[in-house]
Amino acid sequence: MLKKTLTRRSFLTVSAMTAATLALDWKKISAYAAKMGPLEKYPTVVIGAGLGGLTCAAYLARQGIPVTLLEQHEIPGGYATSFDRAGGKFTFEVSLHGTSIHDNAPARILSEVGVLDKLQLVELPEVYRLKTPDMEIPVPQRNPEGYIRLALQYPKMWKVRNMTLADLLDRHVQNEKLKETLSALWGYYGLPPSKLSGFYYATATGGYLKNGSYHIKHRSQDLSYLMAEAVEKAGGTILYETAAEKIQLKNGAVAGVATSKGETLPARAVVSNASALTTLGKMLPENALPSEYMNKLKSFRPSISSFIVWLGLNEELRGKIPGFSTHVSSGRGPEADYAAGMAGDIEKGSFSVSIYDNVFEGYSQPGTSTLMLLFLCGYQPWKRFEDDYGAGRKNAYRREKERWADVLIKKAEKQVIPGLSSMIEVREAATPLTNRRYTRNPEGAIYGFEQSMDNAFMNRIENRTPIKGLYLASAWGSPGGGFTGVFRGGELAFQEMMEDWGG
Ligand SMILES: Cc1cc2nc3c(=O)[nH]c(=O)nc-3n(C[C@H](O)[C@H](O)[C@H](O)COP(=O)(O)OP(=O)(O)OC[C@H]3O[C@@H](n4cnc5c(N)ncnc54)[C@H](O)[C@@H]3O)c2cc1C
Repeated sequence: MLKKTLTRRSFLTVSAMTAATLALDWKKISAYAAKMGPLEKYPTVVIGAGLGGLTCAAYLARQGIPVTLLEQHEIPGGYATSFDRAGGKFTFEVSLHGTSIHDNAPARILSEVGVLDKLQLVELPEVYRLKTPDMEIPVPQRNPEGYIRLALQYPKMWKVRNMTLADLLDRHVQNEKLKETLSALWGYYGLPPSKLSGFYYATATGGYLKNGSYHIKHRSQDLSYLMAEAVEKAGGTILYETAAEKIQLKNGAVAGVATSKGETLPARAVVSNASALTTLGKMLPENALPSEYMNKLKSFRPSISSFIVWLGLNEELRGKIPGFSTHVSSGRGPEADYAAGMAGDIEKGSFSVSIYDNVFEGYSQPGTSTLMLLFLCGYQPWKRFEDDYGAGRKNAYRREKERWADVLIKKAEKQVIPGLSSMIEVREAATPLTNRRYTRNPEGAIYGFEQSMDNAFMNRIENRTPIKGLYLASAWGSPGGGFTGVFRGGELAFQEMMEDWGG
């Protein structure tokens, strides 16, 4: 029993330690603030109201820093959003499947910015469910024992930080099906086991297994609105439908931000929630950054993107099909599934089916259900439509979109929901170009930069940039994508700014 407890603890140590030791030191923050003098001397502009930008802006406003948040869209949230169809009969979630907000760093962050107690969280019925041609495995909530066998080999997780997930599994698991089961959440991090940091996978997945995986009631847009409200209540200003175009410098330091409305906002600091590639590559004056830094930046790849089909059904599915979010693998393993996604081979790739009505009663209106079918894919298959899409010539693009949607619906009908096509009342689809249009993320990336071995954890690009006063707070920065990743990124950017100003 003792051995089991210790082992369980060691496996979960990293995520727990991470939560505890990385907490903001408010004594230090107060000491920095005391040295700063009048706070009106620190006007700050945050570019982008995705969750990373909102988190940083909320901390800054709470601290009394005069903060203006610019958002090019008309509502906050970035990917953490939802939209209505059929006159509001169906409300579709854009991104969230599961997030771990419970007794951990993300819960602390949301509590510090005054949002946690207003947020309605619903525990998912299971962490994930894998369906292959010959098995179906649900992974239960808050029951990490299934993973303990792996942990037994690794009393010190830190030792594995230089290994890919594939290396880690190869060392200790022989059965290929078991390997696939243990790595089934690869889609949450956007890379297959051969490219993904084993340490990153184990700690983040350990977090889900230990703290549970949650959905936000009713949609992730509720969280985004609460965060925006927290920024404004604390004295911050949010300007919607206002894009940042250029970051102006004076003597090598940030001086202001030129907006799409023709204004220039003076700034002693700028925090960018927009993509790092755009911020550092397009918004700054030419040659502002050291070439070594730019070359490194160019060597990093945007993460995987997504093709989504949302379906509004004229039937209640709640409780009739097991599970909430089922990852349906092709049976050819995660490497082949990732390759099919990158190549846009929708017939052969894996996909997931999320039955949101299984999360809580009343998710959809009576007599209806709401589904998301998700195929993680590369940008390349959609790049050929880029120019036409931008110019509003969308016929060929739409035909391809409908073709992909038809394939995905057929696959979901065959493998998860019999009779699906006869229940469809509303259908909508989004491609990597849709992602790019709404969030301006290059290549429609959903997790910022890939969590590749040369850009993860200790090696991850820093939120503090070489330009004095310019910080990143997004999936592109540290620690990376996902809701919990960008909460932490926003917090880190705030901490670094305070250190730089008052340290
Ligand atoms: C289909 C899908 C499923 C996902 N599932 C999950 C999941 O289950 N769990 C999870 O944790 N994560 C999930 N994610 C990932 C997660 O949603 C993202 O990693 C995270 O929300 C990114 O947040 P961000 O702060 O980097 O900002 P983003 O969401 O990328 O938003 C950036 C914001 O900046 C704004 N902006 C950009 N340029 C400018 C400019 N020049 N001026 C003004 N504003 C600008 C954009 O309009 C946008 O609002 C999913 C994502 C997708 C797409």
